[in-house]
Amino acid sequence: MEKQAKIIDGRILSTKIREKLKKEATKFEKKNKRPIGIAVVLVGEDPASQTYVKNKVKACEECGIKSFVIMRPAETSQDELDQIIRDLNESIEVDGILTQLPLPKHLDENHVLDLIDPKKDVDGFHIQNAGKLFVGQDSLVPCTPAGIVELIKSTGKRMEGKHAVIIGRSNIVGKPIAMLLLAQNCTVTICHSRTKNLARVTKRADILVAAIGRREFVTGGMIKRGAVVIDVGINRHEGKLYGDVNYDQASKIASHITPVPGGVGPMTITMLMSNTIKAAQATLETPQK
Ligand code: NDP
Repeated sequence: MEKQAKIIDGRILSTKIREKLKKEATKFEKKNKRPIGIAVVLVGEDPASQTYVKNKVKACEECGIKSFVIMRPAETSQDELDQIIRDLNESIEVDGILTQLPLPKHLDENHVLDLIDPKKDVDGFHIQNAGKLFVGQDSLVPCTPAGIVELIKSTGKRMEGKHAVIIGRSNIVGKPIAMLLLAQNCTVTICHSRTKNLARVTKRADILVAAIGRREFVTGGMIKRGAVVIDVGINRHEGKLYGDVNYDQASKIASHITPVPGGVGPMTITMLMSNTIKAAQATLETPQK
């Protein structure tokens, strides 16, 4: 019989981590006589964004974190959005702020992300947090990459000295996961759309992270036998969700694999909760005005 890869179940791991986070959030609330708070800013009516925000609110409820959802119409001006962020930066009820992306075209995403107080930047997208990650200082780390590290750890496989290949070099997934795996002492290769002989590179990966945004792009022939395969992709097609990896083919070759859905997705939100608690705890060390 053909060997099947072990499934790295992001839902089960998330549940376990969220239970621990709830205890920490409860402890914080008891000590500080207020719950930990996160503000989620949603501009426009994009249905996928609305679903993501709903899932985040649900996770907050599960973890004992208070959520403030600030919804504004698509026509909101840059000045109006800037003022919302400035007010949240000052609010003592709000420990974490995130702006749901993508923003409507007329709004400057980078400007908004950099306006968020880096101490409240629970998405880890502020240039200051990105810089700290790059130089190896403690920071708020982007949620999807942070979740990926937890998923790999959960396999029990050592990362040190392993060859990790990442397909994708975005600022929210590819680059930060490269930094995190480097910090775990992996040997890291980053691939992208101009990489030559991609399959030759990916076939050498002990850990393969696919963050491309193309349905079932990674085929069995691109994977080394026994590799740990992390599928970040979320691709909607005819009402179904697909990853960036051809799961049926990959699961016959890999030792461990994340499914889509139910792999990286739930862990991303769990890491958002974890970052919010970390941000709240840090305010105790540097009390607010
Ligand atoms: P981006 O579009 O920002 O980046 C995609 C990357 O893939 C780019 O670096 C691009 O290369 C590379 N790429 C595209 N085509 C090829 C190719 N043919 N060969 C090699 N590399 C290629 O996407 P994101 O990083 O934002 O997201 C990637 C996927 O992960 C998406 O499906 C997204 O929905 C999903 N996602 C899932 C999350 C979760 O929680 N599960 C969270 C975030 C994202 P180049 O730079 O050269 O253009």
